[in-house]
Amino acid sequence: MRLTVQKFGGTSVKSIARIKNVAKVVAVAARSGPVLVVVSAMGDTTDYLAKLAAQTSQAPSKRELDALLATGEQISTALLAMALQDLGFNAISMTGSQLGIVTEAVHNSARIVDIKTEAILRQLEAGAIVVAAGFQGTTPGGDVTTLGRGGSDTTAVALAAALSADCCDIYTDVSGVYSADPNMVPTARLLEEVSYDEMLEMARVGAQVLHPRAVSLAHKHNLPLRVRHTFNPEHEGTLLRGRDAMEIYRPVSGVTLDRDQARLVILKVPDRPGVAGEVFGTLAAHGIGVDMIIQAFNESQAVNDITFTVKRGDLERARQLLDEIAVTLNAEGVLADQDAAKVSIIGLGLMDQPDVAGKMFVELGRAGINIKMISTSDIRISCVVSERQGEQAVKLVHDLFSLGE
Ligand code: ADP
Ligand code: ASP
Ligand code: MG
Repeated sequence: MRLTVQKFGGTSVKSIARIKNVAKVVAVAARSGPVLVVVSAMGDTTDYLAKLAAQTSQAPSKRELDALLATGEQISTALLAMALQDLGFNAISMTGSQLGIVTEAVHNSARIVDIKTEAILRQLEAGAIVVAAGFQGTTPGGDVTTLGRGGSDTTAVALAAALSADCCDIYTDVSGVYSADPNMVPTARLLEEVSYDEMLEMARVGAQVLHPRAVSLAHKHNLPLRVRHTFNPEHEGTLLRGRDAMEIYRPVSGVTLDRDQARLVILKVPDRPGVAGEVFGTLAAHGIGVDMIIQAFNESQAVNDITFTVKRGDLERARQLLDEIAVTLNAEGVLADQDAAKVSIIGLGLMDQPDVAGKMFVELGRAGINIKMISTSDIRISCVVSERQGEQAVKLVHDLFSLGE
């Protein structure tokens, strides 16, 4: 029989009234077949738990942090199972380890390596609605792990793929995927369909509505994903899937803002082989991910300025490491800039529209918004601007390309 997989995010289960409402949405599907429902922690519970850890210890161990954060989802699953039982359904809550979700032995952002589906299938066959804890798994040695913030989307897609569901419905607090964050840009347009490639880029550069790893996993398994509104479940929302043979794409589908950015510059590094390897090899060895990289050559002095971005939380550590590297490489110094946000436009049609980038830069310039860095891919153009101007830049670009129409 066809399995339905649904996922409800934190805002959808933030109170008992909302959990009871979610139970009603699940009940509609459960009347016509087996259902597995994935839930996040209630409201801001994960933030609250992280704050407790920070108040207890300056550097909480990653293992204990995972043990703590995973409890959030266990509260919401147990409550939802109770609400479903009150509606007369057979329902059972299951933790990551009970679900058989095996992850790599890495804490705080573990990737799923396998799902042993026997226990889930036993429950489904017995006629139970399985209420699965999102965001968590277990190492082969039995330690609790979490998948990274926003990771419940990935749990839902992974379970849908492992159980060969036809589709996975992600219920959230907006009606689907929009041309921009509808809470920031009131004129944003709901996209009826979006390709995996576009959505992956959007998710990576700030469209919080889906976890990027969930999008890649759905793409890998060719699993259609639907994003829809918990409080308006009849609405079709947005369908995410591969594109058919049509060749005509919108030049720009969406615009995003990523505020979690900081910029570092290593100034006047001698221009010789091995320098970039030394800088980025060292950062990688310390687990610091680097995003945009620009190297500018000063010919008369035979030196380079190397500029790149990191996540805000990595800025201090990256700066300390760069200070040391700057001395060994005989560079002039290091500059760290917290005031950064990345504005990106995404669209499959960008490949065929060479004038789009220029239009975006002219528009930002006209508004007095200085572009600190630029990077492009086949389907994305990103500009780093001052964080204070990030929202204004998003609205300008949204209007410029008439994305609300
Ligand atoms: P959940 O708790 O359900 O996982 P999230 O807060 O993670 O929900 O994601 C939903 C939020 O994503 C929305 O409230 C919206 O503000 C934000 N968002 C950002 N960009 C977009 C976009 N392009 N389309 C829809 N929502 C977006
Ligand atoms: N509760 C986790 C978080 O807040 C996972 C999720 O909601 O997807 O990040
Ligand atoms: Mg989310």
